[in-house]
Amino acid sequence: MNGKVTIVTGAAQGIGRAIAELLAEKGSDIVIFDIIDGSEAVAAIEGKGRRCAFYNVDVSDFQAAAAAIDQVTKDMGKIDNLVNNAGITIDKLLVRMKEEDWDRVIRVNLKSVFNCTKAVIRHMLKTGGSIVNISSVTGVMGNPGQANYAASKAGIIGFTKSVAKEYAERSIRVNAVAPGFIRTKMTDILDEKAKEAMFAAIPLKRLGEPEDVANVVYFLLSKYSSYVTGEVINVNGGLHM
Ligand code: NAD
Repeated sequence: MNGKVTIVTGAAQGIGRAIAELLAEKGSDIVIFDIIDGSEAVAAIEGKGRRCAFYNVDVSDFQAAAAAIDQVTKDMGKIDNLVNNAGITIDKLLVRMKEEDWDRVIRVNLKSVFNCTKAVIRHMLKTGGSIVNISSVTGVMGNPGQANYAASKAGIIGFTKSVAKEYAERSIRVNAVAPGFIRTKMTDILDEKAKEAMFAAIPLKRLGEPEDVANVVYFLLSKYSSYVTGEVINVNGGLHM
């Protein structure tokens, strides 16, 4: 990763922050796109001796994402890698799910991937690059109460494979990671009963850690996966095989 520039969306906390920190340890400069305070993440990355730029950008906004990516090329000189990680949940049974619950989750989780990927592809056409999209086991298996989230995460998989096929000949690789239940603020809000049921279903008998996902993202961005594109790697403790 030495000398590379990697954008990680939603990297102020959670899985995105673990990805950004690991990539910085491996020698990449980091750009964070987030809508919450990113100063702790920036300090942690700079502490590893890498450049880190924070952009306050809502990645679900097409114009804002495109403008931010143009600015990154000016500020950092280039973009080698993109990790589309920003995501939210608004969990409800379908009968209670409002139109805005559906629209918001699709915009933040799926449209953001279109927004950022479309904008970086232009810059990667000459240089090549690597993109990793964070899907979810829910997008592969489905989950009650998560129809909007599952649809957004399944959509990411179709998008990943299509864009991988479109740009392989330009040396741009596009892959996805489908995490299972990872210990972050997103899963902290689940009640104890839901957590116990989840735990019982995981063959490795533990929740995943953000670093478990970060390790696979690093592999997919690195030269060690130079012949891998259009792939979806499960990181779920065996919950779904
Ligand atoms: P998190 O809530 O801890 O972090 C998500 C980050 O995305 C936050 O920093 C948030 O501010 C940012 N974000 C949200 N909306 C944004 C927007 N519009 N523009 C820019 N940034 C925005 O969640 P996490 O658990 O770290 O999840 C990271 C990714 O992994 C998500 O895409 C999530 O769906 C996926 N995932 C998580 C789990 C899990 O168990 N935690 C499992 C499967 C997939």
